[in-house]
Amino acid sequence: MSREHTVVLFIGPPGAGKGSLSEYCERELGWKQLSTGNLLRKHISEQTELGKQIDLIIKSGKLVSDELINAIVEQWLLASCSHGSTGVILDGYPRTIAQARSLNSLIERALMRSKLNVVRFLVDDQVAIDRISARFICENKDCQAVYSALKHSSMKPKETMACDKCQSPIGKRKDDQESVAKDRLSMYRKHESDLLNFYQELGMPVIECDAGQSVDNLFNEFKTLMNIH
Ligand code: ADP
Repeated sequence: MSREHTVVLFIGPPGAGKGSLSEYCERELGWKQLSTGNLLRKHISEQTELGKQIDLIIKSGKLVSDELINAIVEQWLLASCSHGSTGVILDGYPRTIAQARSLNSLIERALMRSKLNVVRFLVDDQVAIDRISARFICENKDCQAVYSALKHSSMKPKETMACDKCQSPIGKRKDDQESVAKDRLSMYRKHESDLLNFYQELGMPVIECDAGQSVDNLFNEFKTLMNIH
């Protein structure tokens, strides 16, 4: 693979705005995003073999197995890089040390010229829970646009309960109920320090951004921190 790719890992709790920032990067910078969560939800709605295996796991907020996720990401990453995207975002991966190791070995094996960047989203637990509680997504699994019912949010749908992009109904994710969201958040916090230590030990800088601000401001901060003009 001859071109140099920027591979960006978004590490942050549910509700941090990783998906929203990814959308800006796709639209404004022409990058590509893999949201492991979106991809898994698509499998569930299409009732593929994989979808049937993981349905209950996802509803309950637990993590699916490392082997399965590693294989999915490897396939996507190799395809995206060979199709010439200059920037690719992994949103929701890696979540465990085993996943981080697998990604590193993939890069060493097949994507030697890629530059890996780790971006950490800083946000308070309560802000994340409030955002998740007010979050709605488009039920069309090829879309999955995200909306917010928070009072001052710029992410309100134009029409009540219909997607601005594809007019499909919007609804709640099953794992966005408050009790499950709290479990997901504590699961994230459990793995977060291990992941950050892993990258620090490799001598890789972790770029920290303030995910408590609006997505517009977050995008500007992100570009500055990443030196994108
Ligand atoms: P969140 O808002 O919690 O970041 P996502 O949409 O990224 O949610 O993921 C939803 C669910 O999909 C997770 O709770 C988990 O069950 C599964 N999942 C997504 N990414 C991974 C991963 N890298 N490893 C294991 N499970 C994952």
